[in-house]
Amino acid sequence: MTKKHPQHPVKLRPGQARLQYFVQHREQIIDTIRRLVDFESPSDNKHAVDRCSAFVAEEFAALGGRAEFHRAVDFGNHLQVEFPGETQQKPVLLLGHYDTVYPLGTLASMPCRLGNGRLYGPGVLDMKSGIALILHAIRGLQTWHGQLPRPVTVLLVSDEEVGSESSRALTESLAKQASAVLVLEPSYGPKGSVKTARKGVGEYSLKVTGVASHSGLDFEKGQSAILELSQQILAICKMVNVKRGLTLNVGLIQGGTRVNVVAAAASATIDVRIARMKDAAGIDKQLRALKPFNRRCKLEVTGGINRPPMERTPGVAALFNRASIIAKELGWKLSEAAVGGGSDGNFTAGLGIPTLDGLGAVGDGAHAAHEFIVVSELPRRAALLAGLIESV
Ligand SMILES: [Zn+2]
Repeated sequence: MTKKHPQHPVKLRPGQARLQYFVQHREQIIDTIRRLVDFESPSDNKHAVDRCSAFVAEEFAALGGRAEFHRAVDFGNHLQVEFPGETQQKPVLLLGHYDTVYPLGTLASMPCRLGNGRLYGPGVLDMKSGIALILHAIRGLQTWHGQLPRPVTVLLVSDEEVGSESSRALTESLAKQASAVLVLEPSYGPKGSVKTARKGVGEYSLKVTGVASHSGLDFEKGQSAILELSQQILAICKMVNVKRGLTLNVGLIQGGTRVNVVAAAASATIDVRIARMKDAAGIDKQLRALKPFNRRCKLEVTGGINRPPMERTPGVAALFNRASIIAKELGWKLSEAAVGGGSDGNFTAGLGIPTLDGLGAVGDGAHAAHEFIVVSELPRRAALLAGLIESV
């Protein structure tokens, strides 16, 4: 006769029990990510992006979300999904994008594959895995609560990688109705830090018009736009203030027609990054006030700051604090980072809505051939997101 051992389930703290739920669902999360990566979705291919978003909309509808497309002409349609909640509080906005930087056909040379605990593929980190985390966090909350504990709005846009021109107004209007914005862009570094500050981004173009002449016969009559541009570039570089987080990069230059012609035209494109919103007006004024060194050359400056910085406001700090407490319950110490790159979180933070970014997967190589995520990190990212949806 065998002795019966009564089963004593180990009593888990709530955070740990939830983490275990996502550990048990890890394969399903990976499967969702794989399916999303297999829908290639370059920003400039409306047809492909729309196919990807149709799939995503079905996945959300299967969870009971009310999915609605916002039609875009030049880009894929943007997808908004509403979930009602047990309470009447303002919704939390879960923000992301399903466009990628990879042209159609990239999968042939960069297939979605598992190896060494990593999942590789175009857009796997930035940010197909972020979309999968949203889907599975919502499913987890529904499993525990029946319905979501509070209203949730999901917005996935199709043009983030190309500046979000067509989606910006929609992002801002939904953010204004939300109590907080959680952005599922990739986390930062191997520890998966969330992002509590992002630089603002601007782009300017400087066009120089000089006077053309034959470099042998009429050298003195020529006014070189290339020489003028060179001097302007040096002046622009002097505006950099690394300590202040203010940088200008002349990333593109163009000029001249032939080697034996004094150049009549030259131009430069300048990438501007600002850590503080109050630097936007100053740098704009300085660039527009550039004067030609050679008075016979003309300058034309166009452009502006198109993403405000995401500053670490008290609202952002409070969100990070909340996330740290949830992470601690899950048995891990969450860190934060300030980064130079912009995202749609810049728009929502710019409106003063508490925003936490970098809640997506842990990995490396965004926009590069080795882009990957660390699959063992997926359960706690999903658990962190679920905890935040519940409590912010
Ligand atoms: Zn992204």
